[in-house]
Amino acid sequence: MDDTYKHKGQRKKLVEGIARKGITDTRVLDAINAVPRHLFVESYLENRAYDDNALPIAAGQTISQPYTVAYQTQLLRVGPGHSVLEIGTGSGYQAAVLLEMGAKVYTLERQRGLFASTGELLKKLNYRPQTFYGDGYKGLPAHQPFDRIIVTAGAPDIPQDLKMQLKPGGRMVVPVGSFSHQVMVLVERKNYQDFQETAYDGFVFVPMRPGTE
Ligand code: SAH
Repeated sequence: MDDTYKHKGQRKKLVEGIARKGITDTRVLDAINAVPRHLFVESYLENRAYDDNALPIAAGQTISQPYTVAYQTQLLRVGPGHSVLEIGTGSGYQAAVLLEMGAKVYTLERQRGLFASTGELLKKLNYRPQTFYGDGYKGLPAHQPFDRIIVTAGAPDIPQDLKMQLKPGGRMVVPVGSFSHQVMVLVERKNYQDFQETAYDGFVFVPMRPGTE
């Protein structure tokens, strides 16, 4: 569980690379610089943790590419104290980035094994989101409304229940599309009834699946 000078140096290079690719929000870059990504992957992948690539995690899922994490987080415009719902806890890395930015994080995972193991890891690393096991399509009715919602799996359509769990003025970032290609969509809730949707760049995420397992 060490974060060595070597790791810190690799991380700095990663952040510089992400900035060159067009991420300008220094709060996002600082958060990426702060989270020891190598501790969120299995030890055999440790030497690849600071390449700007997605990597496999347990249960056939992936930890998103750091550039993708930065892109989604920048689009989300997270501020300190914002309540943020994340769909797809996965490795816990994105949740850690949001916590570094001062958000109050609620994170939801549909795979029981990942929910359990990542919950343990986050505690060990002293990251304290509220973790939930359940179906992200339903959101968290008991904890809504949220300032921000980030979906980290590819959805076939904009999940309607999630939209309705945004505060007026809130923002949701969700990759929408087919199994093999999604477009990043920003949903802004202007007031109670008015929503504005804007499409951004293309990405590839693991699919958002209904129900739990
Ligand atoms: N944010 C994660 C990315 C993990 S990949 C990270 O930083 O590592 C996407 C995750 O979404 C997977 O763990 C997958 O099991 C989960 N997922 C897919 N559909 C879901 C749903 N309906 N509800 C909750 N989680 C879901």
